Amino acid sequence: MKAFRASLLVAWCVGSLFVASCQDMGHAPCRESKFLMGTLVTVTVNGDKTAGANSCKAVLHEIARIEDLASFHKPSPLNDINNAAGSAPVQTAPELRRLIALSLSLAKQTNGAFDPTIGAVTRLWNFSGPGEPRVPSPSEIEQALACVGWQNVQIDETNGAVFLPRPGMALDLGGMVKAYALGRARSVLAERGVRSALVDIGGDILALGEKTPGKKWRIGVKDPTQPSAIRGIVELSDQFILTSGDYERFLEQGGKRYHHILDPKTGYPATGVRSVTLVAKDPLATAPAGVFVMGIARGLEFLEQMPGVYGWLIDDRDAVHETKNARGLFKDVTRNE
Ligand code: ADP
Ligand code: MG
Repeated sequence: MKAFRASLLVAWCVGSLFVASCQDMGHAPCRESKFLMGTLVTVTVNGDKTAGANSCKAVLHEIARIEDLASFHKPSPLNDINNAAGSAPVQTAPELRRLIALSLSLAKQTNGAFDPTIGAVTRLWNFSGPGEPRVPSPSEIEQALACVGWQNVQIDETNGAVFLPRPGMALDLGGMVKAYALGRARSVLAERGVRSALVDIGGDILALGEKTPGKKWRIGVKDPTQPSAIRGIVELSDQFILTSGDYERFLEQGGKRYHHILDPKTGYPATGVRSVTLVAKDPLATAPAGVFVMGIARGLEFLEQMPGVYGWLIDDRDAVHETKNARGLFKDVTRNE
């Protein structure tokens, strides 16, 4: 059995692209990294040195705070809700209720392809928790699937409580919490007057402002077949870029490869897609994991209805599919254009 986590590689690639050009410009950005949300988080801030260092710390602090609020694996207010599934509503902070409500609207928008109640099933596979991932038995999956259903989550705003009515039900916000954290990072940086920064949470990135005046941030999209290499390049300013890839967390068993983006209808890894990359001004416009589950045809059709969201999808034969608005935005490095 082989488990692999590759998120660090994107951060490294982005970092190396950036370092090269900083040296060119004689610039000295502040950069600080920390392991948070199960991955490497790197914050780069351009501007005054002391203010930049403080801003890096403030962003890391904010991301740590959100992890503490909504962690699926560590003790957290989200876990308190999960632990009381089937027994009692749990009073919780307005921010967590908002986060859960956001996850439910993503579920509604994607017609359940993105479903935060997938927690009952992700718990079995254990791709991101401590210990090893494993392939659950079909009967375990069947049992867990009975607990999946975003429509069943009850948010009681009057009493400030959340209730999961079935025993075994669990919310896993892993498919949207990084996007939420990046949105919060943008607010923290704006409050501090930062105009140019890059926040990278394991390959999900906020590109704030320009890298240097007139020059956008250059971001690499990993090649799913060879995650240490770049398949696409995109130049961004004041945008978020989010990727869900089957190479991020997976296990191999009996000659088969199982990855961490699960189809809420089957409880097994979604097929047909290797990665979904989205660029948008709103980090929660939609969730790439939901588009991944929809598959190439339905996913593209869905994205075409969302102005301001640019999609770059790679299928299981390594062909790139992009939304109409993304033509010319992403450069496929394997093609001479
Ligand atoms: P990450 O970058 O952390 O791997 P992704 O955006 O790729 O996050 O989403 C995958 C994560 O989302 C999984 O680790 C799991 O926590 C959760 N997840 C998996 N399948 C689904 C699904 N169908 N709907 C919602 N969340 C999911
Ligand atoms: Mg991801």
